Amino acid sequence: MASSLVPSPSTSFFHTTKKDLNLSSFSSSSQRCHKHASRKIYCSVAAPQQTQRTPSTTGSVKTAMTMTEKIMARASEKQQVRPGDNIWTNVDILMTHDVCGPGSIGIFKKEFGEDAKVWDREKVVIIPDHYIFTSDERANRNVDILRDFCNEQDIKYFYDIKDLSNFKANPDYKGVCHIALAQEGHCRPGEVLLGTDSHTCTAGAFGQFATGIGNTDAGFVLGAGKLLLKVPPTLRFVMDGEMPDYLLAKDLILQIIGEITVAGATYKSMEFVGSTVESLNMEERMTLCNMVVEAGGKNGVIPPDSVTYKYLEGKTSVPYESVYSDQQARFLSGYRFDVTKLEPLVAKPHSPDNRALARECKDVKINRVYIGSCTGGKTEDFMAAAKVFLASGGKKVKVPTFLVPATQKVWMDVYSLPVPGSGGKTCSQIFEEAGCDTPASPSCGACLGGPKDTYARMNEPQVCVSTTNRNFPGRMGHREGEIYLASPYTAAASALTGYVTDPREFLQ
Ligand code: SF4
Repeated sequence: MASSLVPSPSTSFFHTTKKDLNLSSFSSSSQRCHKHASRKIYCSVAAPQQTQRTPSTTGSVKTAMTMTEKIMARASEKQQVRPGDNIWTNVDILMTHDVCGPGSIGIFKKEFGEDAKVWDREKVVIIPDHYIFTSDERANRNVDILRDFCNEQDIKYFYDIKDLSNFKANPDYKGVCHIALAQEGHCRPGEVLLGTDSHTCTAGAFGQFATGIGNTDAGFVLGAGKLLLKVPPTLRFVMDGEMPDYLLAKDLILQIIGEITVAGATYKSMEFVGSTVESLNMEERMTLCNMVVEAGGKNGVIPPDSVTYKYLEGKTSVPYESVYSDQQARFLSGYRFDVTKLEPLVAKPHSPDNRALARECKDVKINRVYIGSCTGGKTEDFMAAAKVFLASGGKKVKVPTFLVPATQKVWMDVYSLPVPGSGGKTCSQIFEEAGCDTPASPSCGACLGGPKDTYARMNEPQVCVSTTNRNFPGRMGHREGEIYLASPYTAAASALTGYVTDPREFLQ
């Protein structure tokens, strides 16, 4: 599993300014990209354009820091922190859901007392999303426990679902927590967001420190509003070049994970910069950060910019302050990618770093396609899939193709937004014409397998191309199922042929 690009144990933690380069130094090195179009660098690199620098973000800092270090310094009320420091971190938002919420609540009550109150009823966000549309009694009971707790504690942000037969009758219900957090304005630059879910790192797309924690930690945060955290060192990923129109952010993160392996960023921050990253919309940036945990990353982070601020418009009235890595900030190591040289990828069974070119897998016969989850079930993901169906000129899918919008808002977008170049058709119309299954009720669906009656769960040992983020044995149900992780482009192309398919077969 070791990669030549993983820093060797003898690699010094930080590299001195003797070897420091600035961003312009990379332009020559980019001409020497090897076969994976990436290059390891040992240096500090120039920070992206600063939109705002205020004393509290940089002025009083004596030692340069990365974005993640700055956010953690602010949250721990320190002038500066260094990787490896253990600091009491004040939490801006704590999120939990139906799988981990009951356990976290139990620990909170055990340790703080039956009558204890949470530290801040407006900073706790509770989102039922995992095992929702099921008759499984234990799963339904979990949601009841959340509801009772939110009533007792007067939790302001509880996205409840009461009528399981018709999700649209539940105006409060959202769906997958990581997408709902963003859509409801809980993801804000410069803040600390903790959640009882490993993909809480998704929110790093907004330039905040966001990471997953366990139930015990969450129980403590519920009562204390803070947590002892170790400051991670940062890996910097510079992605430059115009994004080819057959690639999506999923391809970029599969490229990175394939490069550094599933252990390559263990307890490290992954910072994404460069012209390609700047060109991505917020949902694509979320895809990038969503999967940092598949490389072991503590968090992912992207510098906020006008794209971020535009997305946040009208979503939050809470003031926030962006921070950016200082020019002289020290990174554990860096990687550079020339995106124009990349090709559509998949992660073969049974690991997210089992990278292969989609075209190399064209003989892999599949039984089904799944488009959904916090990684690949956002509005832009369905738009991308629809684009491939449209480009096919009316072809029908060859295998069952399941569509699970992440949230109620995504579901509405699928049914209402016109797909560019379609003459006004919506995604849902295009999917129906292609013979896909009707878009399901928004939730985590079969991404995590779930109870036996979960929609699109793999109850047979089948082969699936999926836009989700994990392909471990049993992840989507049957232990002998085989999951090929892919972008929505590749998933849609594969649905049309019945084999793992490079989307360029339809998009060019
Ligand atoms: S969609 Fe999948 S990966 Fe995302 S939160 Fe739900 S179960 Fe986890």
